[in-house]
Amino acid sequence: MSEVQTIDIRTTTRLEMVDITALVRAAVKRTGATHGLATVFCPHTTAGLTIQENADPDVKSDLLAHLARLVPKEAGFRHGEGNSDAHIKSSIIGASTTLLVDSGKLLLGHWQAIFFCEFDGPRDRRVFVKVVKG
Ligand code: ZN
Repeated sequence: MSEVQTIDIRTTTRLEMVDITALVRAAVKRTGATHGLATVFCPHTTAGLTIQENADPDVKSDLLAHLARLVPKEAGFRHGEGNSDAHIKSSIIGASTTLLVDSGKLLLGHWQAIFFCEFDGPRDRRVFVKVVKG
């Protein structure tokens, strides 16, 4: 077992996908785990986490643009804070992801990266990483 680690993220725009793969890899390395599971958890209701392609930046922009078409900012929502679209996008994308750790490395596909998805930035954000060895 290992302690929960925190990764701090500062987003710069309202809608953004931040590649946090290197930060998660470093967190896993700090635990000394060679085999196990790494859970990454987003404790925010207007952001999320996803695994997606990191090679072509158009994938990120297409994903964000399509989510914006699916859930427009102004659509007659009742929530007084005015960010219901961000809450809905957060639920669509999800708040956590679990990765396999093998021989001390994250088992990600060649084109895969871990992205923090900001839907109501810019803000100071954080994610938690917990590694369970085994
Ligand atoms: Zn809100």
